Amino acid sequence: MERPKYLVTGGAGFIGSHLVDALLARGEPVVVLDDLSTGRMENLAGARGQDNFKFVHGSVLDASLVDELVRDCDSVMHLAAAVGVKLIVEQPLNSFTINTKGTETVIGSAHRYGRRVILASTSEIYGKNSSGPLSETSDRILGSPSIPRWSYSTAKAVDEILAELYRREYGLRSTIVRFFNTVGPRQSPAYGMVIPRFARQAVRGEPLTVYGTGEQSRCFLHVADVVEALLSLIDLPDAVGETFNIGSDEEISILDLAERIIACAESTSSVNRLSYSEAYGPGFEDMERRVPDTTKLRAFTGWQPHRNLDDVLA
Ligand code: NAD
Repeated sequence: MERPKYLVTGGAGFIGSHLVDALLARGEPVVVLDDLSTGRMENLAGARGQDNFKFVHGSVLDASLVDELVRDCDSVMHLAAAVGVKLIVEQPLNSFTINTKGTETVIGSAHRYGRRVILASTSEIYGKNSSGPLSETSDRILGSPSIPRWSYSTAKAVDEILAELYRREYGLRSTIVRFFNTVGPRQSPAYGMVIPRFARQAVRGEPLTVYGTGEQSRCFLHVADVVEALLSLIDLPDAVGETFNIGSDEEISILDLAERIIACAESTSSVNRLSYSEAYGPGFEDMERRVPDTTKLRAFTGWQPHRNLDDVLA
């Protein structure tokens, strides 16, 4: 293959593999680094065998491997992370370490070779902030231990701080993207994300389990629109040193979502409500709203989503 232009860590995963497909479709040489802990080679079925594509099975914790791959590319899209509620709840410190150490390794090498880097962060770093829409400057409640994903959100916050530190101290050319709920093909239902879980329950005719009152609202962006947002930022000089929300502002309550999925699947499923304490243990509360403000992304790039919730569900 030609010298890789982009290194995509976590490129065998859900979002990463769609990004790889889009880069290859643009004729860009891409190398993927993935340890296949949650990613799958099937996700790269379209990429494998292409001249401009190379897959490296390995970890972002392997400093010498990362250093070599970063040296040999122009830009890094750092998406590799320990994700999934189960993993994070059962192994909080292990997942925290993977997510912080992996990022430190990647940005250390990016700094050493002067490479541009885009870091995947998350709306989780806004904590339980339910006021909305959430802009990039909204107050953050980092890593509140009362939510089970604390190690994940805290690790991502540390990643952001590390990137900012390297940017200020050493001039690292970094851009942070905070993904809100993303959905689409190749997303594993194992993560407990609500749309894949509801879809599976509806197709099987099982009850759809709604936690809490079901009045809490969320927004879901199709992965193809996420990829378009990433492509619009990838080589934009003005995006260096900036942080962008990437999400949909089409808000829907979880109860309405359940009913819409039942209708969409023409399912006979019912809706089963479970209190947060029954689902997650005493004292747990989830945020009422999670709506991104994407004004900044739109202003910098002209990006706008091309798919609505019906497209996502279809
Ligand atoms: P995913 O699990 O499908 O992708 C993560 C990839 O990283 C997988 O392929 C996995 O095998 C790989 N990986 C994990 N640990 C690794 C390691 N040590 N070395 C190399 N590879 C490793 O999840 P995703 O939803 O595609 O998430 C991609 C990124 O987006 C992650 O950083 C995640 O935190 C972030 N994110 C996703 C969402 C969402 O809605 N999907 C929301 C917010 C943030």
